Amino acid sequence: MTDYIGRFAPSPSGPLHFGSLVAALGSWLRARSQRGQWLLRVEDIDPPREVAGAAADILRTLEGFGLHWDGPVLYQSHRHDAYDHTLDWLRHNQLAYYCDCTRKRIRSLGGHYDGHCRQRQLDGLDCATRFRNLDPINQFDDRLLGSIDTDPAFAAEDFIIHRRDGLYAYQLAVVVDDAFQGITEVVRGNDLLDTTVRQLSLFRALGLSAPAYLHLPLAVQSDGNKLSKQNHAPAIDPGQPGTTLSRALAFLGLPVPAMLFGAPVDQQLQWATDAFALASLPRQRQIEIGPETTK
Ligand code: GLU
Ligand code: ZN
Repeated sequence: MTDYIGRFAPSPSGPLHFGSLVAALGSWLRARSQRGQWLLRVEDIDPPREVAGAAADILRTLEGFGLHWDGPVLYQSHRHDAYDHTLDWLRHNQLAYYCDCTRKRIRSLGGHYDGHCRQRQLDGLDCATRFRNLDPINQFDDRLLGSIDTDPAFAAEDFIIHRRDGLYAYQLAVVVDDAFQGITEVVRGNDLLDTTVRQLSLFRALGLSAPAYLHLPLAVQSDGNKLSKQNHAPAIDPGQPGTTLSRALAFLGLPVPAMLFGAPVDQQLQWATDAFALASLPRQRQIEIGPETTK
């Protein structure tokens, strides 16, 4: 076992679809090929967007594809104390402040928050909490894509870390938990590429060392639409994992030899763990897939 610790962090807003299977598979292969650990974290911090039974369904599907994780699953719904503690620390150190600005006001600014409430000393009633982004990071080195520059206006924004409705923001929870779980490298889909700089700024403000990042191409439908739960991407069929796994491996630049196409998942994964190399991963931001692939 090496020091490498990777993770897969699904939100239980629906069953796994082909795009999220690719992210799970990519991070699993990377961790296993490094002889590291692969942890599983259920990001259940947004109950209104959650679907009953989705978390259990995702876990079952991962098992069905042979993507076994190490140790117990971490549920973000059990981590509220850690998030509260971090929010308190940030407020106490003047690195976070309350904001009661409306969406309408921010829209009228062109979409980026202007720091209006930084000096207002609001009491927190009916307020969001924003991160005081004093020293924003807007560039990082992706392990697959190389140097990534992000729109400075986006990177420099005082983004929300605790929502007005009382829910914790993804940016806060992901940073607190990647640090807590000792993640050394985050492998995930390209849809989160831009948000990486915000996470890096938060890691730095908290005095925590950040993991490395590697962003995989996003699977898009041939009509250009992102495969996502919001777009009602079809769930994958865990009853027929062999063929879908072969397609997911091909998507990641690892087409299995003909005799392994559709074979039992453990055989394919064994082959893929040995064959896996960063150099064979595709570097596009998006890859189109046909309708048969998503089944
Ligand atoms: N929970 C996020 C999602 O399902 C992924 C978070 C991450 O990998 O950083 O989109
Ligand atoms: Zn404000």
